[in-house]
Amino acid sequence: MGTGILTIDLDAIAANWRALDRRSQGETGAVVKADGYGCGAGKVATRLAREGARRFFVATAEEGAALRDALGAGPEINVFSGHMARDTGLIRDHALTPMLNSPEQAARHRSALPDAPYGVQLDSGMNRLGMEPADWAATRAGLEAGPLTLVMSHLACADEPGRPENARQLKKFTEMTAGVSVPRSLSATGGILLGAEYHFDLTRPGIGLYGGLPFADAQPVVRLSLPVIQTRDVAPGEFVGYGGSFVAKRPTRIATVSAGYADGLIRYMSNVAQLYDDERVCSLAGRVSMDLLTVDITDLPDTPDQLDILGPHQGVDLLAEAAGTIGYEILTSLGPRYQRRYLGA
Ligand SMILES: *Cc1c(COP(=O)(O)O)cnc(C)c1O
Repeated sequence: MGTGILTIDLDAIAANWRALDRRSQGETGAVVKADGYGCGAGKVATRLAREGARRFFVATAEEGAALRDALGAGPEINVFSGHMARDTGLIRDHALTPMLNSPEQAARHRSALPDAPYGVQLDSGMNRLGMEPADWAATRAGLEAGPLTLVMSHLACADEPGRPENARQLKKFTEMTAGVSVPRSLSATGGILLGAEYHFDLTRPGIGLYGGLPFADAQPVVRLSLPVIQTRDVAPGEFVGYGGSFVAKRPTRIATVSAGYADGLIRYMSNVAQLYDDERVCSLAGRVSMDLLTVDITDLPDTPDQLDILGPHQGVDLLAEAAGTIGYEILTSLGPRYQRRYLGA
């Protein structure tokens, strides 16, 4: 088989959810946008519903509709982008709860679906999504009179506990929601780790469920094993790959491995990212191609059938470091060509 195998450990995701739930003061939701950070939103949410998660979050109504089909009736599915034009049918037919981000969205939702529940997203300083204080002041009474389920906001710097923006956003959110009688939510993974005063009634972890920083205690979730297609010996002075950017300095054994930038292994990894044969490490030699990697396996005792680029020895954040990015981007870029296998399904 020529495709890589992406193994996703649902038991580890469940353990990470329980660990974050133990650290959360109130209820713990789960963020499964971007197809569950590349891990499969339906599989992840179905498992977490079994663990006791009752509120899920996605980015768009389309993601919400697909998740409802996988989850069935019952759990709340909240949509961060709110109620966009032409979302009405999806929201109604799949029982989605939009997080209303503006007075325009509020008017659209209340007139199109007067009895349908909704949340409100407030901007407490990030200036990305959510109602500004003045918008909220103007619409609050009307929105609180309807089937409002949640008032939320999002922290911009929660992965850096020392940043003063965190306390400022906390203060702003506390002021804006004073006297609100429905559940309040401010924190994603980073905010959970900032401490109880950031938790309010509901937390919304995403990356921590999938084994990524800033949840340093997370169990690893993904393993990505790539088949070796061919090996060859390269003499000193010969080059490897596009542009000849790797030149052998010694007699070198090169393994050509099936996966490339079309599978989310971005070109910035060229010549620097590492792969593993069990615990033995080897380095990319040359540029990442669309479908192929070339790896220096000279120091391995024998030729492996496969090499791991994600696994127990190298998680998403270590690989991200080699590529100049973050674990979130590594996970959400994992391509559709991999064969996905689930542990604990
Ligand atoms: C993505 C997102 C989350 C989850 O964040 P993590 O850092 O992955 O835990 C929570 N809330 C909002 C509004 C988001 O956009």
